[in-house]
Amino acid sequence: METDTITAISTPMGEGAIAIVRLSGPQAVSISAALFQGKDLNEVDSHTMHYGKIIDPETGEMAEEVMVSVMRAPRTFTREDIVEINCHGGLVSVNRVLEIVLASGARLAEPGEFTKRAFLNGRIDLSQAEAVMDLIRAKTDRAMNVALKQMDGRLSKLIKELRQKLLETLAHVEVNIDYPEYDDVEEMSHEMMKEKTREVHEEVTKLLETARQGKILREGLGTAIIGRPNVGKSSLMNALVHENKAIVTEIPGTTRDVIEEYVNVRGVPLRLIDTAGIRETEDIVEKIGVERSRQVLKEADLILFVLNYGDELNDEDEKLFEAISDMNVIVIVNKMDLEPKLDIERVKELAGDHPVISTALVKEEGIDQLEEAIANTFFEGELDSGDMTYVSNVRHVQLLKQAKQALEDAQNGMEMGVPLDVVQIDVTRTWEILGEIVGDTVHESLIDQLFSQFCLGK
Ligand code: GDP
Ligand code: ZN
Repeated sequence: METDTITAISTPMGEGAIAIVRLSGPQAVSISAALFQGKDLNEVDSHTMHYGKIIDPETGEMAEEVMVSVMRAPRTFTREDIVEINCHGGLVSVNRVLEIVLASGARLAEPGEFTKRAFLNGRIDLSQAEAVMDLIRAKTDRAMNVALKQMDGRLSKLIKELRQKLLETLAHVEVNIDYPEYDDVEEMSHEMMKEKTREVHEEVTKLLETARQGKILREGLGTAIIGRPNVGKSSLMNALVHENKAIVTEIPGTTRDVIEEYVNVRGVPLRLIDTAGIRETEDIVEKIGVERSRQVLKEADLILFVLNYGDELNDEDEKLFEAISDMNVIVIVNKMDLEPKLDIERVKELAGDHPVISTALVKEEGIDQLEEAIANTFFEGELDSGDMTYVSNVRHVQLLKQAKQALEDAQNGMEMGVPLDVVQIDVTRTWEILGEIVGDTVHESLIDQLFSQFCLGK
């Protein structure tokens, strides 16, 4: 049972004109009221906003002009009383307000603690809580939509339906076993059980198929630009960054604490792998050789392989073609403005099914076509994230894979004529595994670990 009142700055550090200090807990209103000069916050209606001043009780001085929202339990994000103090000053004044709030009896929230309370108080389920984190990290509008839908409970709803279906079959088998004398309850047959598990298996498989897109929306399409020295790799990178606002994201409080470079190409986030490396991929080809480069390229979801139209193909190019043949590749023939020396027919032959795009990067030509090709490799022409339920969370993907396996165990059992009360074990297992996605059957330690990944103040 949580009884203390927590607080944190709940807007991104150093961004935006308004910063919010948020309090949640039984004393949220009384602590704020004691610091606030204006209306008596203890008396105001729930879900109202008030202008006033924060006074430092130690010195009696005004610390900041603020707008304060008061939201009383249970109609709040955490289902506790919440107060949000909107400060319009910069970092210094927000920190000052936070310090005063802390000195007045609130405790600094742990990362993710607001969301954790929302979960523990039954306001949201686990997959929704995880969506909050995805939302914070979303790199593009599309990724944000996916997270919003998950937060909205779309994945949870689907998972709950599947669990319900399994539960009904389990109950049915149970009744057959416990009350064999009930003639009016139809006996669950292998055929019926097969049909039910097949339906659930199909849905789980469909969800898993969205995982690739989900992962990319979440983490970005890991992209490596390769090619011989001087073909135009740096120019390509600059063109992509220049055309598509690069998003530099700092993720504080996470395990990696890195600054990553993202480029948003028509809604597809590209994560430029090892940017420093890309700038000097000369190394990959020349020094480390094809064997090593194969290793480096393994983590890429997309390879942009650049060739020079004004130069002949050589051995190195052929070897690279070989190394990346079964990967997701776009071949870029750059420097189309030069006298042709490249055997374009041979390039097409080597490229096989991979698209070949012509560019003249110095003249900014061909970039549109390239972007279209990049978007196509992701959306494979047809689907759009518009109405899909994507699975984007690594933990969910793992659980879905386990559920799929358990269902297949059940189905194999039935093929071999195993009795239904034994098949039931695998079905029960599936039901439990799916429960972990929405948090019905999870361990406390897992919950702690999950919530500690959140950004502070969420
Ligand atoms: P990298 O070594 O592969 O990174 O190649 P760079 O991007 O540094 O480009 C090498 C040189 O080729 C630079 O002088 C570029 O200006 C030039 N270059 C890039 N794209 C084109 C192009 O489309 N046409 C011509 N003629 N030169 C280009
Ligand atoms: Zn370069």
